[in-house]
Amino acid sequence: MGSPHITIHQKAFRPYLSAAALDEAVTALAARLSADYAGREPLFVVVLTGAFMFASDLLKRMTEPCEIVFIRVASYEGTASSGVVQEILGLREDVQGRHLVVVEDIVDTGTTMHQLLPTLLAKGPASVEIATLFSKPASLRHDIALRYVALEIPNDFVVGYGLDYDGLGRNLPDVYVAV
Ligand code: 5GP
Repeated sequence: MGSPHITIHQKAFRPYLSAAALDEAVTALAARLSADYAGREPLFVVVLTGAFMFASDLLKRMTEPCEIVFIRVASYEGTASSGVVQEILGLREDVQGRHLVVVEDIVDTGTTMHQLLPTLLAKGPASVEIATLFSKPASLRHDIALRYVALEIPNDFVVGYGLDYDGLGRNLPDVYVAV
C-alpha cells in the first residue's frame, strides 16, 4: 500500500502522509476554525507559496463567511543593528479591527512567524492567530502561540502538498519525508 519512494533532485523521499490523512486533519481544523470564528468574519492571510494547497482545502471547508488575501514575506538585513526586517508584500487590505488568521505551511523554528506577527500587530487588527498545516515542536525556538495546527510532525524535512524541495514537489497530493 502507499506510493513508492520518489526522487527529487537526486534526493530520496518516502511516503509519509497520504492525501486522505491530510484531508482528515485539514477538515478537522476547518471545523474548529468555523466554530471559533462564527460571526467574526475573519480575514485569512495566506503566506505564499507553500501554503497554497493547504489554504485551498482548508478554506473551502470553512462554513462561515470569511475573506482571503495572499501575501509574501520578504526578509532582509536591516541597515543598522536592527537585524532582520520583515516586509509583507501584497497586504493592501485595511486590517484595523479585523480578526486575522495567518495560514502557513510549516512552523519549524518559528522564526518566520516570530518576525511576521509584530508587523501584523502594528497594523491594529482585533486579533491574530496562526493556522499551520504542520508544526515541528522539537525545533521550535520562539515563544509563539500556535492555536491551530493540523498536524505535528517530527523534525524531518517534508515535501508535497504545497511544500517544495528546491522548487520541486509542490504539486504532489501526498507528503513525503527525506530518507
Ligand atoms: P521557520 O521560520 O519556522 O523556521 O521556517 C518556516 C519555513 O521554513 C516554512 O514556511 C517552510 O518554507 C520552510 N520549512 C521548514 N521546514 C520545512 C520542511 O520540512 N519542508 C519544506 N519544504 N520546507 C520547510
